[in-house]
Amino acid sequence: MRVTAAFSRLLCLAGVVVGEVAFAPGRVVVAVALRRRRLVCPLCGFSTPHRHDVRPVDSVWRHLDLGVWRVEIRCRLRRLVCPIHGVRTEQVPFARHASDFTRDFEHLVAWLATRTDKTTITRMLRIHWRTVGRIIERVCADELDPERLSGLVEIGIDEVSWRKGHRYLTLVADHGRRQIVWGAEGASASVADDFYGALGPERAKRITAVSMDMGPGYAKSTRANAPQAVICIDSFHVAKLASEALDEVRREYWNELRSLGDPQAARRFKDARWALLKRPENLTDRQAVTLAALKAAGGKVARGYELKEALRCIFNAGLSLQDVSELLTRFCSRASRSRLPAFIRLARTIRKHRPGILAAVRLGITNARAEALNNKVRLITHRAYGFHSAHAALALVMLTCGPITLQPPHELHLHQ
Ligand SMILES: [Zn+2]
Repeated sequence: MRVTAAFSRLLCLAGVVVGEVAFAPGRVVVAVALRRRRLVCPLCGFSTPHRHDVRPVDSVWRHLDLGVWRVEIRCRLRRLVCPIHGVRTEQVPFARHASDFTRDFEHLVAWLATRTDKTTITRMLRIHWRTVGRIIERVCADELDPERLSGLVEIGIDEVSWRKGHRYLTLVADHGRRQIVWGAEGASASVADDFYGALGPERAKRITAVSMDMGPGYAKSTRANAPQAVICIDSFHVAKLASEALDEVRREYWNELRSLGDPQAARRFKDARWALLKRPENLTDRQAVTLAALKAAGGKVARGYELKEALRCIFNAGLSLQDVSELLTRFCSRASRSRLPAFIRLARTIRKHRPGILAAVRLGITNARAEALNNKVRLITHRAYGFHSAHAALALVMLTCGPITLQPPHELHLHQ
């Protein structure tokens, strides 16, 4: 078998003829020519037999490695005149528009990005994390199910931080399919308005319930765009507020200790943060000991801890709507009498949002699986820290939690 024929089989590139194969330091350079005669616009697919000119230099793409060798594909491309887009370099069948990588390489990057960490990907594939970001943006734009906004009935709107310094994404989850179906940068009523705009009034009419946090923005937009939908408050948002209230009590107490000139005690207490905030079943032995000591010492931190745990248990599975309703009432009166300002405020907030909190329980929206999706999203956005743009962070969320099936390249070539 000739070298060019061998490489033609090895590379699995659509629509090309392999011309020449050369070895350069660290890489194999493969020159190819397009099989088709017609020139195709990369933006709209317009095709013509007439060429405008030939680019003076080769275009270059990185392809999947062969062994330890990088593979570089080179092709001399022509330019055409598209009636809409003007003079453009012709499209190639094996790579996306404006990409320096072949589709197969990009699929490998996207597949890995949803499954493993930054260092593994950048070292193994020898590309920058920002390049990963740009690649997954392209794959996401290409591969997402265009019908993902159809058939939505119960949804959740939530914000998630994708970068330090209050940089947020708004994400819309389909509770039925347990997928993220829409996202955009920002966290305000206007971003939610954009979602309802993309959904359109007909599909918005079929939404029956929307879960969210207790902020005013998403609720306002939902009342305006899908007035028939029941607004529900996710229980993990309620539990999160309780954790924040407890943390406030802890900080206050810690500052008091410090001002009393007991740095040792203050330091001991600072370490207790996680003992207080974690679920009791997740504590390490040392944290469990710290927690027991805190409880035995009594005082406001112990009081706050009991309140936080009591609230969390209300939303554990298996309680009826009536139970939850009654326990919530009891919790609010206990919290109001706690003499802890943070918890008094919490009781007020819960009373205000009580109908929404109970609606979530009644409709069964507040369940472990909705929270599991939420946790998965948070894990993913943490990995997205360091991306150059919100679009890249969003693409990673959509590729991981959205209506899309990614495959490693060899599975895409199974027929060969
Ligand atoms: Zn065009």
